[in-house]
Amino acid sequence: MLIAALAALDEIKDIIQIPKSIDFVFEYRLILKLGVLILVILKIMGLNALIALFAFDVAYIMIERITLRVFRMKYDVAVIGAGPAGSMSASKLSSLGYRTLIIDPRDTKKVCAGILTAQYVRKYGINEDLVERELKGSRISFRDIHAQITYRKAVEYSINRESYDSFNLNEAIVAGSDLIKERVSSIEKKESSILIKTKKGSITVDYAIIASGISDLSQLCGGTKKYAFCVQQKKYLKPDDYYEIDLQPGIYSWVAPKKDHVLIGYSSLEGYPDIPGEKGLIPLGPVKKTFSKRLLLAGDAAGFVSPFEGEGLYYSRRSGEIAAETLSDAITGKKSLSDYQLDGKKNLISQHSL
Ligand SMILES: Cc1cc2nc3c(=O)[nH]c(=O)nc-3n(C[C@H](O)[C@H](O)[C@H](O)COP(=O)(O)OP(=O)(O)OC[C@H]3O[C@@H](n4cnc5c(N)ncnc54)[C@H](O)[C@@H]3O)c2cc1C
Repeated sequence: MLIAALAALDEIKDIIQIPKSIDFVFEYRLILKLGVLILVILKIMGLNALIALFAFDVAYIMIERITLRVFRMKYDVAVIGAGPAGSMSASKLSSLGYRTLIIDPRDTKKVCAGILTAQYVRKYGINEDLVERELKGSRISFRDIHAQITYRKAVEYSINRESYDSFNLNEAIVAGSDLIKERVSSIEKKESSILIKTKKGSITVDYAIIASGISDLSQLCGGTKKYAFCVQQKKYLKPDDYYEIDLQPGIYSWVAPKKDHVLIGYSSLEGYPDIPGEKGLIPLGPVKKTFSKRLLLAGDAAGFVSPFEGEGLYYSRRSGEIAAETLSDAITGKKSLSDYQLDGKKNLISQHSL
């Protein structure tokens, strides 16, 4: 009962997004109430309340540790990172019937212009609630050459990135994935499993998909170490319906129109441009090896983006999908994990040369 009540409380906490300032209430409220209740019962029974309370605390901590270990061992696959790559992998794996756990602290906002390209929309469609602006076309400048492309109908969209991430994660949860909001500190490959450690404990799974973007963790797992440095500013300038790209030697910049403002971004290979704004990294192409024993890399972690303008949303979603399909085929013996390298190359890398 106690454990079920605590688990339910944790679930509620995850769903209603409790502000950090009152987070501790959920950790201690129930334990305190139960402690007081037990004290009262013991008082009535005439036992030494302090000793009994101490015994209760010890028992509680032990039960919590044991249940964490037991319940956390029940997953087939852990997907690390709930960006577009991770949420897509998890949705796919859950819909294929695998017990899937997503691990992401969900404590940082992704810096992104939020442009969904035509190839993305063709493959995955568009949810209107996420759209900030339908794009009529794009303007591209290279040195002093300028071109404007106007679409016959809307094929590209400017979306709200935060809502987009929550939407994709929600789809994975609806498909059956579980989420724990923790940061993975290390991953150990064992003979027949993967041991994942967070500050709060460890989880053993059969396989893991690393979709943690460009992060310390993905780099520990063979992820990309080559990237461009970006700075993006929010400006309350009047947006129009065109996405603008400006390619100049050594610097690449863009203007992404949103509902009531624009995002102006700059990217350089030499370090962060010396401009105030939010910072982010874009990979510069896929890593040589996107799989290893029981592990697959997806999205930015694997370096899957278009090197032309840094488009990564399509590539991260698609690589997350291919990773999940290959993993499923490897589990059922139809393929091996190394096929992910080939499938990724065929479906993603070949498009880079377009
Ligand atoms: C400035 C900028 C603008 C961009 N604009 C566009 C654009 O307009 N269109 C486009 O298509 N692409 C754009 N991109 C690229 C796009 O944002 C990325 O390619 C895409 O977000 C990659 O998705 P992902 O799921 O691989 O990683 P991410 O979106 O980076 O998600 C990684 C997730 O992993 C989690 N994580 C990290 N470390 C850990 C850990 N140790 N344990 C657990 N979880 C962890 C993070 O919290 C995060 O949720 C832009 C990128 C930048 C930097």
